[in-house]
Amino acid sequence: MAAEPRHARHAALVRALEAEELDALLVTSRANIRYLTGFSGSAALAVATRADLLLVTDFRYDEQARAEAGAVARVEVDGASVWDRLFRELPSLGPLAWIGYEAHALAVKDAERLAQAGKAWRWKATGDLVERLRASKDPGEVAAIRSAAALAGEALTTTLTQVRVGMSELEITGLLEGELRRRGSEGHPFPTIVASGPRTALPHARSSQRTVAAGEWLLLDFGAQVDGYCADVTRTVVVGGRASERQRAQYELVRGAQLRAREGVRAGMTGRDADALARELIEARGFGDAFGHSLGHGLGLEVHEAPRLSKTSAEPLPAHAVVTIEPGVYLAGEGGVRIEDDVHLSSEGPVLLTDGRTDLAELV
Ligand code: ZN
Ligand code: ZN
Repeated sequence: MAAEPRHARHAALVRALEAEELDALLVTSRANIRYLTGFSGSAALAVATRADLLLVTDFRYDEQARAEAGAVARVEVDGASVWDRLFRELPSLGPLAWIGYEAHALAVKDAERLAQAGKAWRWKATGDLVERLRASKDPGEVAAIRSAAALAGEALTTTLTQVRVGMSELEITGLLEGELRRRGSEGHPFPTIVASGPRTALPHARSSQRTVAAGEWLLLDFGAQVDGYCADVTRTVVVGGRASERQRAQYELVRGAQLRAREGVRAGMTGRDADALARELIEARGFGDAFGHSLGHGLGLEVHEAPRLSKTSAEPLPAHAVVTIEPGVYLAGEGGVRIEDDVHLSSEGPVLLTDGRTDLAELV
């Protein structure tokens, strides 16, 4: 039987706490709480010390919290206030002089509670301690992302057989989301983007009532979720006819850049160097200004997480990160092409988790 991965995560967090000279970390990020304890509900606080993991939640989650987190954490359920309960339970975790809190995941009103909690504890802002651990996936996490990616690919294939000229972007969104759900996606990790025609030039368009006409681009950017883990896929196709020569040239430029990056990306490379794999090709063809976003991002319990694959990131990509590779070329008033696949940075090199089917699809 595989070792319980949450024990390894706690041990890694303890090493990070020691490096920061902290006795404990108050964890308020939902994704971090899930990562450390397994609890997937929406309201909880967790505290990790060297010896203990405490999860405080409310009465709605009594049964769920014990089932999901009971094997690795002490679960306390409070009918009135998780915060009051937290301060009552803290002394039971032993003498804690310095407690870190997640500055990026704490509301101002909750930070005030820390200030008012009395002189027994001193609080220190931390950044990304758990997020840095989450950037390297264990085999179970990679398997969950792979399942989500497989489901996403099947849902898209079925959806594309149903797409017709004259359908609205929202109608196509509905078809795609239905197929994702039918295949077991737990949720849509972000609002599905279906954009058509010139609207494909907006990298983060929202699906609209616009109907797709013959010969136009259709861009679909969507996620799937299995066991809390996300896949993130973008495909751009031509609807109701063959691609024009200009469309084909634009597509092949993005496709070539995407392929170069997804085959060339390696753990240990900086985010900037990974980004350059695709950007160099696009810039060499004079379309550098039309690729205005970064190459990709980490993927896991959240759809955007560490590491970043961008021209400003000097950080090396961690081993066993799962990242998206999604270059795009956007021509204002005309249309955009983006192609996105998900890749695991294994010790043997990049392993594609999505289907990687990027031949230009012309739906006729
Ligand atoms: Zn995406
Ligand atoms: Zn993405």
